[in-house]
Amino acid sequence: MSASPRSLGSRLQFRRGHELGPHERCTMRNGGNFLSIRNVHLTYGRRDKTEALKEFDLNVSLGEFVAIVGPSGCGKSSLMKLVTGLLLPSQGQIKVNGTVVDGPLKIVGMAFQNPTLLPWRKVLSNIVLPFEIVDEHRHKIRSQRHVYEEKARRLLNAVGLPEVENRFPWQLSGGMQQRVSLCRALVHEPALLLLDEPFGALDAFTREDLWDVLQDLWMKRKFTVIFVTHDLHEAVYLADKIHVMSRRPGRIIASYDVPIARPRREETAFEPVFIDIVHSLRRLIKLEMDGREHAGATREVQ
Ligand code: ADP
Repeated sequence: MSASPRSLGSRLQFRRGHELGPHERCTMRNGGNFLSIRNVHLTYGRRDKTEALKEFDLNVSLGEFVAIVGPSGCGKSSLMKLVTGLLLPSQGQIKVNGTVVDGPLKIVGMAFQNPTLLPWRKVLSNIVLPFEIVDEHRHKIRSQRHVYEEKARRLLNAVGLPEVENRFPWQLSGGMQQRVSLCRALVHEPALLLLDEPFGALDAFTREDLWDVLQDLWMKRKFTVIFVTHDLHEAVYLADKIHVMSRRPGRIIASYDVPIARPRREETAFEPVFIDIVHSLRRLIKLEMDGREHAGATREVQ
């Protein structure tokens, strides 16, 4: 998928005819890379040093759905913290939409394995929380609360939960809580959505339901997604591109394009190309975990 930039503030039109929402009215600089990570190193600790990432390079285009997979402990979560600006690299540079990330970003929505909803707030009030935090909305939330709540309701509808707005999180199942968490991550219409194992704690059926919820939202809104997962089926089902990380210190050792049409549905997982990519990813990560050399490192696999 490719996007063509127009002037700042104009809408971007995608080849498949999807028009971006107002949140994605941004000009692509940097050769079309919405996110660009250049030679990033991250080392934790002063005395007992842990090198989490080393010589890490990655480009992500605007509107792309990218999955990151790799052995446990290879630095996937650290990478997400760097992209949001919650952590700064020890060396190298990260740019989002052409601007160097040097502190927490506003244009990011995040969801984690644990939905982290506030138990004392009802669902609707949890979803509008980002508006109480993000500067440009904070001063308007009192006078325009109904507008923000309407946005939250529309998202609740979109994720199949039209009737839970007045419930507390603890009155919902794990899958429902994760849907609410997705709504909260998206309600302020972020250009970039970061998901760190968001469905990892759910049973297989609920997880697969949520794949479709996320895919449908993405097809409508076309935000840029970086999705960290250890579930290879999930990565192939959801992503346009899958980047594989080495064992720690992590860097990208291979990238796969996923040439499967959307919307992907249950039967997609039985297609030979789907199965081939899953197997190839599994082999590569297994070799990496065993510390063995493998063909395919540092080159595009697909
Ligand atoms: P992953 O998400 O791939 O499992 P992480 O990014 O959580 O990997 O961690 C990468 C490495 O960095 C691991 O060895 C982990 O122990 C270490 N690490 C993560 N966070 C910290 C921290 N705050 N302080 C020290 N080491 C850390």
